[in-house]
Amino acid sequence: MAKPVVAIVGRPNVGKSTIFNRIVGERISIVEDIPGVTRDRIYSSAEWLTHDFNIIDTGGIDIGDEPFLEQIRLQAEIAIDEADVIIFLVNGREGVTSADEEVAKILYKAKKPVVLGVNKIDNPEMRDLVYDFYALGFGEPFPISGSHGLGLGDLLDEAAKHFPKHGQTEYGEDVIKFSLIGRPNVGKSSLVNAMLGEERVIVSNIAGTTRDAIDSKVKVDGQEYVIIDTAGMRKKGKVYETTEKYSVLRALRAIERSDVVLVVIDGEEGIIEQDKRIAGYAHEAGRAVVIVVNKWDAVEKDERTMKAFEQNIREHFQFLDYAPIVFLSAKTKKRIHTLIPMINTASENHALRVETSVLNDVVMDAVAMNPTPTDKGRRLRIYYTTQVAVKPPTFVVFVNDPELLHFSYERFLENRIRDAFGFEGTPIKIFARERK
Ligand code: GDP
Ligand code: GDP
Repeated sequence: MAKPVVAIVGRPNVGKSTIFNRIVGERISIVEDIPGVTRDRIYSSAEWLTHDFNIIDTGGIDIGDEPFLEQIRLQAEIAIDEADVIIFLVNGREGVTSADEEVAKILYKAKKPVVLGVNKIDNPEMRDLVYDFYALGFGEPFPISGSHGLGLGDLLDEAAKHFPKHGQTEYGEDVIKFSLIGRPNVGKSSLVNAMLGEERVIVSNIAGTTRDAIDSKVKVDGQEYVIIDTAGMRKKGKVYETTEKYSVLRALRAIERSDVVLVVIDGEEGIIEQDKRIAGYAHEAGRAVVIVVNKWDAVEKDERTMKAFEQNIREHFQFLDYAPIVFLSAKTKKRIHTLIPMINTASENHALRVETSVLNDVVMDAVAMNPTPTDKGRRLRIYYTTQVAVKPPTFVVFVNDPELLHFSYERFLENRIRDAFGFEGTPIKIFARERK
């Protein structure tokens, strides 16, 4: 199910990132520990009481050399494009400024619900300051304090009143949803066109779904697929489209709606930092991943080139060691036909449920082969392992003390489980729980 999206807009220094961080809280990210993969601070999932949503800090989207007012105007436009509900943030201590009015003007035109947050109201005596902001024309202003964490509950409750009522998944369970993710110009749209142009591929319709995301529905050999956010790949000519943060935002949204993510790399240009970051998001989101090296036609090669490129990928994307790699060309269509089978395999493994008895045999054999570690004289004991979820496959290992299951042994268990069941193309998760 697509989560509702909330975007925070407002001129600089009103406290957008403070509020964002408050709402998001401390989230530990796996990719944070991977060198070169920095955490994204403008987009995150968030939970607040019973509300589950995604939140964007548009202030973090830097739009090139545009002048100050143009920047905030474009950020407001992004919020309108991407969000279900907009939190318009102002500084209660400074009254209504002309920059606030500029933002307001853009938001009036949008047919999106706007909730007005008046920040920096750090104590009850200051509450009277909010009245000025009725003048902005967005109804009741909500007094909040980002630094003190005050008033956020009321603000978010108001925002949540406007969340769309989905209540069900966008597409049926049997439909395989995939997206093509990668920095601009790696050939994502060319790849989609090449796939759509294949003989076996029946394009049933173009479904307009959430917001301006356009998904393509196709059928191949009886199996239905949805290519998520094909619109994100088309250029609409907006100024901010080429900024890195915006394309990352688009990519994150598409990843979230997909079962399988094709991480597309430009074979001609090789791997750059941004590729790693994008791949890191797919991994972290627990999606199945296929690495696609496009433009292979344009690469001057001998018999060693592919192997060398593959090694290079494995080195740079150590966290994606489970992802298969395909070298192809959208231009010449070479190996385009291998994509669908790879998506099928990755998707099957992503949803694979293994038999508990076989799983326990595998884990016990692993322990017999490589005894569990000890720490300060205490040995890890594994009693029982069970698969608790799919998409991605998630395992719980019941042990005497979860602290004793160190990363290296967990990794060893993961590898044994992979050896036994495959799981090519999908991450798997392992958690330790104390057996009571
Ligand atoms: P942004 O540019 O809108 O993202 O604003 P920031 O979140 O970076 O905040 C700008 C400044 O305002 C920082 O110095 C914050 O510490 C401060 N600030 C944020 N929220 C509050 C608040 O509720 N009360 C007070 N007094 N200061 C705040
Ligand atoms: P996107 O921004 O990732 O969607 O990339 P596009 O599909 O727009 O492609 C960017 C550029 O790369 C275009 O000029 C394409 O013609 C070119 N291109 C795409 N795929 C290939 C390929 O397989 N080989 C070569 N040589 N060029 C390609």
